Parts: sequence; C-alpha cells; structure tokens
Amino acid sequence: MSERTSRKGPRVAEVLVPVAIDQAYSYRVPDELDLAVGDFVEVPLGTRQTVGAVWDIAAGARGSNLKTVTARFDIPPLSENLRSFVDWVARWTLSPRGMVLRMCARAPFAAVEERPRIGLRRAGPEPKRMTPARVRVLAAMEGDLAVTKSELAERAACSTSVIDSLVDEGTLEAVALPPEPVAEFCDPDFAPPQLEADQARGAAALVAEVESRGFSVTLLEGVTGSGKTEVYFEAVAEALRQGRQALILMPEIALTAQFLDRFAKRFGVRPAEWHSGVSPRKRARIWTGLAQGAVKVVAGARSALFLPFNDLAVLVVDEEHESAYKQDDGVSYHARDMAVVRGQIDKAAVILASATPSIESRVNAEQGRYKHLRLAARFGGAKLPTIAAVDLRWQSPPRGNWISPPLVTAVGEALAAGEQALLFLNRRGYAPLTLCRACGHRFQCPNCTSWLVEHRFRRALVCHQCGHIERVPQHCPECDNVDTLTPCGPGVERLAEEVAKLWPDARALILSSDFPGGTERLRQELDAVANGSCDIIIGTQLVAKGHNFPLLSLVGVIDADVGLSNGDPRAAERTFQILQQVTGRAGRLGRLGRALVQTWQPEHPVIRALISGDVERFYSEETEQRRRAGLPPFGRLAALIVSGKDRASAENHARALVRAAHALPPNPKWRLAALGGLPHEEEISLLGPAEAPIAIIRGRHRLRLLVRAPKSADLQGFLRAMLATAPPERGGVRVAVDVDPQNF
Ligand code: ADP
Ligand code: ZN
Repeated sequence: MSERTSRKGPRVAEVLVPVAIDQAYSYRVPDELDLAVGDFVEVPLGTRQTVGAVWDIAAGARGSNLKTVTARFDIPPLSENLRSFVDWVARWTLSPRGMVLRMCARAPFAAVEERPRIGLRRAGPEPKRMTPARVRVLAAMEGDLAVTKSELAERAACSTSVIDSLVDEGTLEAVALPPEPVAEFCDPDFAPPQLEADQARGAAALVAEVESRGFSVTLLEGVTGSGKTEVYFEAVAEALRQGRQALILMPEIALTAQFLDRFAKRFGVRPAEWHSGVSPRKRARIWTGLAQGAVKVVAGARSALFLPFNDLAVLVVDEEHESAYKQDDGVSYHARDMAVVRGQIDKAAVILASATPSIESRVNAEQGRYKHLRLAARFGGAKLPTIAAVDLRWQSPPRGNWISPPLVTAVGEALAAGEQALLFLNRRGYAPLTLCRACGHRFQCPNCTSWLVEHRFRRALVCHQCGHIERVPQHCPECDNVDTLTPCGPGVERLAEEVAKLWPDARALILSSDFPGGTERLRQELDAVANGSCDIIIGTQLVAKGHNFPLLSLVGVIDADVGLSNGDPRAAERTFQILQQVTGRAGRLGRLGRALVQTWQPEHPVIRALISGDVERFYSEETEQRRRAGLPPFGRLAALIVSGKDRASAENHARALVRAAHALPPNPKWRLAALGGLPHEEEISLLGPAEAPIAIIRGRHRLRLLVRAPKSADLQGFLRAMLATAPPERGGVRVAVDVDPQNF
C-alpha cells in the first residue's frame, strides 16, 4: 500500500478528519502532489483548514467541483493495520470514525506547534546581590550543563522569577536544548532473572507464541506475588531479540513509576512511557519513533493502544480485570477487548495478566479461545497471607470508630514487630455523607444526584461525580443552626484520625488518588512505604493495584461490604477482585502475611470465597449465574444513555427509540422479542427506559435503555438500524451508546 499513486490523470482522495463524523470526504488531489493512502494532509473543511488522513485514493475525473487537498504533512503515514483498527473500533463502538482517528493522530501534530526546549546554563560571574533563593539556584546548577527553567525552579524550590532575574543579570544564559531522549536501546539480555520451574514453563510458552509470529491470546493467571511480570518480560525480550516492538498496558498511571524502574533493572533502560502526564513534545517523538520503528517498547495507559507501532510482536494487558480499562466518555471502548483486536490485526501475541482474571477472560480460556497459563505459588516460596473475617455483628468497634477490637490488636502486634500494616477503605475524603443533626439537611450536589463528600484537608464539600466543590459552611443552610453539621460514616481521612488516636507514635500515610501532588508525590510516597519510613498505610483502591510493599505484613479491610449491594451484576466479581488484590499485598517477600476482613455478612459467597481461598468455586458459581442470566460473556449488552435538560424530553426520546426498534422490518441477523412477552434465548430484548444509576449528572437528566442480545445476533447492526430510524434528537437531547457497558 505504500506505493505512491501515479501522478498522471486526475485523482480523488477520501480524507477522514478527526471530528465527530463517520464518513471520509472527497478532495481533488493536485497533480503535483505526491500522495499515498495513510498520508496526513491539510484540507479545507467549511471555512477553515483542518488535518486529515487519506483513507483511499482513486483515479477519476469526479473531482471537478471538489475542494482540493492543500498540502501533505511530513509525518509518517498511518499504516494499513492502524487504519483497519480505526475502522474496527468505530464499527464496534458505534462511534464516528473521525473520533477514533483523533485518538490515533493527535500526538504527532503537537511537535509542529510547540516551541523548542529552552535550557539554562551558567554563563557569567556570581551575581552582586545574593539571596537564599539565588544560592539554591546556583547550587542546583552545579555539575549540570543545561536544565529547563521549570526543572531548575523545582530543584531549587523557588519561583521562576528568581531564575529570570539571574538571566537578566547575565549570570545564567538561555540555550536551545537537544530533544529529550524518548527511548534508548532496551537490551533483552541485560539482566535475565533466574526463573523458577513454573515461571520458566510459562515464559517458554509465551516466547514460543512470539516466535511463531502469529496472533494468539494467553491468559497469564498467577496469584499475587507469583512473578507474572518476570514471566511476560521474557516475551518482551524475545520481541526485542527479533528487533520488533512490545506494548505493555497498565490500568493506572500511578503504577507506571515502580514498573518503569523494574523494567530498567531487567532491560537496562526505561521503556517509553505513555499517558496523559507525558509532555506533548515527548508524545510527538514517541509517536514518530514508533511509526519509524526506532522506539521498541511502550508502557502506558489504555490510550497507548492507538499508537502507530509498525511491527508489534507482543501486547501485554497487565491487571486485565481492571475496570479502568474501560473508557466511558467520548469513544466508549474496553482496552482489554480492543487489545485483542489490535493483536489480531497486527498478528501479535496478546498476554492478559492477572491474579484475579475477569469472568470474560476465564470463560474464553475455559472454552479454548485463549491459552491459559497458571502460576500457582508465590515466588521464592513466600506464602499467601492467611485471611480471616471479623464479624461486625459481634465484634463492632465503639460508636464513631471503625477499627474493630481484633484489628486493633493485630495492628498493635504488627507495629511491635516492626512491620507495616495497611488499612483499606475504598472511600475518598472524610465522610461519604454530611448531614445536619438538628434538621436532617443533607448536602447534595446542585448538578447531580449524588451526596457531597467532605474533604477536610481541602476544607471543602466535593461532588465525586462532577467535581463541584464548595466551602464547608458554618451554619446549616436550611435551619441556620451552628455546629450541627455531622459527618456520617468513614472516609480515609476520618480513618486517619482514628489511627492517630490509637497509635499516636506510628507514622501513618494516606494513599488516595485525589491528594495534591499528582504522580510525582505518589511515587515518593510509594518509595517511603517501600523503604520503611511509614508504619501504617491508609489507602483507597489505589493500593490494591499491583504495588509491591515489601515490609507489609498485615492488611485490614475496614468495610468489605462496600460495593456488594449496589445492584450492579458485576458487583460480586468486582468486590472479590479488589479484596483478593488488596489482601494479596500482605507478606510478599518472606514475611508471613495476614489479612483481617471486617464485614457484616461473613456468609456472603464473596467473603466466603475470600476466606476459604476457594477461588475456583467462586468463579464457577459466578460464571453459572452469568450463563443463566444471559449476561456477558454468554450474551452481549449495550447501554443507551439518553440525556436531556429535563426528564420529560429525555424520556420521550428514549420511548421513541423503543418504538423505532419495534417498527424495524424483520432482519435475518437479529430478532427482537415482542413487547411485554418473555424474551426467547435467541432474541434481543430491550430493558427500560429506566433512570440511569446516577439519574442526574452535571444538570442533565439521564435515562438508560439496556439492550441484551444473544451472541448469535448482530448487536451493532441492530443498534445502528434502531438509531437510524429514530426521530432526530431535538431540544438538547443526546444519546450515548455504550457497547459492553461495565457500570450499571
Ligand atoms: P505478580 O505480578 O505476579 O504479583 P511480581 O511479578 O510483582 O508478581 O513478583 C513479585 C516479586 O517477586 C517481585 O518483587 C519480583 O521482583 C520477585 N520475583 C518474581 N520472580 C522472580 C525471579 N524469577 N527472580 C527474582 N525475583 C523474582
Ligand atoms: Zn455533581
């Protein structure tokens, strides 16, 4: 496809533009322009010029009244594979192709727009007037040939104006810096580990998949601490030996820091890093480097799936069960599922790694669609933690406290032994609900149906749905009483208060995603945990995700029942996964770990499975329930969220969609169950419209229509037909399609 089209005769290019439009537009190609499919071009669109990608070129004179391609960009073209992937994702998610293209093609243009990197170097004599800040700046410059202004300001802990004044006086000089290296040579044989027998078997199987140079999917299932990373690193090493590329997806940016260091220990250098925190300039260079084959390994967030690898051999989805792989806004896609598609298109070995795989991947493995590798034991003979329940009906903490007597004892023992304890509570902020003791007033978000959560560090009430934030008032806004506002229930901040009261001498640390300081601060805190300068960690779900805490011997789960009864069909699976992950943090390196799980319902199947360790039974019961209900992976689901400024207009439109579906002519690829009747197994059924789980977000009323389809039906075809015949969306009504929804 890289063959350039003949410049003789008129040509028409079909150009896809990165906006919410599905079809490509036709443009005449000027005779003198050398153009091929995949090239990036500038084209007129309406009254402006825009960037687009050539999706097709045909010879023909059809172009007399067409607009003309303005220019071709000097950027590597989109490969045939990536174009197929864009088309595939758009078809599957029912998104306009332009929106999917946008996810692939934003990065390379950042470099064109950005200014060169400016650095500073020591030029002149000491300044005449010295201040403490200036002393720090000059000390921070020592030994460095050039640093950027922001780096220097950070190192010297001063404002950039101090640096500006030193430049004005000639002590420092601004110079153009060479581009930052995005990725250096990864050496597959830099420091190979000594693998244990199970690990070696797993690694050999994965290496064989890479050697075969074909598409495959392998579920790498291994208990926490079994060394899955070391095992899939061998597949990455094999890709590097072949001179080909590897992608490692991670659910959480916060995870990448530790991971990058670990990668560097194995391969000599860090891989290219890809997520929203990476500078646009660096992203542009990674993008180009991948398209040209110079960059070999990327570790990144789900968006890395849309990068222009030109020879992808291995695609790892680490912690494949994580719901963070689902993108909910814009193009709603599940990165794990789309990774399998990308692997198929690129003929790569896909590796799904997890200690607690999704039911979907488990079923795929059982039915033979995926290969299944297991690591049953922890590396180095480390034992899995013992897990016990604390029955809160009998052993509840005193009123206004959340740590039960057995957990208090256990934490005390861990501290006495010089070990760390982790208290897990998946609730950010101080208290999940604040109310007035005098009149019962509750603080609700003005834009959403959700309670405001008090955050004491920020002295604010915050909406976790839309980010709305307000000061904590002195008076109750309803009855005007002073000092009657009462927090209800615990968040991590409140738990930290209790910890401080119980163990005033212990060094406690809250790990929560909403704390200021971002990834860099989190990284420092994780280091602090790893090197033992903290005794008690209080954490939200952030701590459940793959971090290694070598000194941790005790995990206390404050409220295991959070999330078990929220009506989501995945509630049991999710809770099981998160509890299994978080209790698995204990005792990873030699120490015998222990976990105490506080619960009001110790006989619940999830808690029982966790305590007994009978994972297989849990999986088979959950799988059976899904099978009976026709839920994924045995059937397919799509959610249509219809939203509007008022409830009536959203509901009217949702009902119109249902009528449109029932008015569709018969189709061999699907059958719709009759209204009111019990759906047959082979029929698509429509559920709702009903209020969405969060009925109002950002002032928009939301109704949900669930579409359940047997696997044999063409769900996307049905949705397209239904949406095409529905009346146009009027009066600000919007329909968002979510194929394979994760949140109910
Ligand atoms: P998992 O991802 O399965 O929970 P990790 O890959 O994080 O487990 O491994 C757990 C710990 O054991 C890590 O600190 C890792 O460095 C160590 N480890 C695992 N396998 C080996 C090995 N073969 N040689 C040396 N260290 C290993
Ligand atoms: Zn809100």
